[in-house]
Amino acid sequence: MGAYIPDRLRALVTIRAEHRCEYCKAHEDDSFLGFQVDHIISIKHGGETEAENLAWSCFACNNNKGSDVGTVLLPENRFIRLYNPRSDHWSEHFELLDYVFYAKSEIGEATIKVLKLNDVERVMERQLWF
Ligand SMILES: [Zn+2]
Repeated sequence: MGAYIPDRLRALVTIRAEHRCEYCKAHEDDSFLGFQVDHIISIKHGGETEAENLAWSCFACNNNKGSDVGTVLLPENRFIRLYNPRSDHWSEHFELLDYVFYAKSEIGEATIKVLKLNDVERVMERQLWF
């Protein structure tokens, strides 16, 4: 967040994602808030503004993710990194059933938690969109 993204790079990220949020799969045409270029590894954590570290993201996912790169899952207090749209396969970590996200891995669980993918408002929005 906050970094200048050159137009050509922004276009590449958008088209590569087929205009969908690479986390929650919402389509940008359905969003009123506008989509953003996400630094998968945030600048704070050393991520760079280059195609391999960028993802197309809806406002809610990007805003909830902030500069986070992972979270601690209870009860073991283990640090689990977030889903990486460039190197992970979405369907190995998430399942979307009746508009609700289910984790298929700890990475999925961590990402659902941090990005608040199952907040009531987000599930309701999804019902309107899909
Ligand atoms: Zn999203």
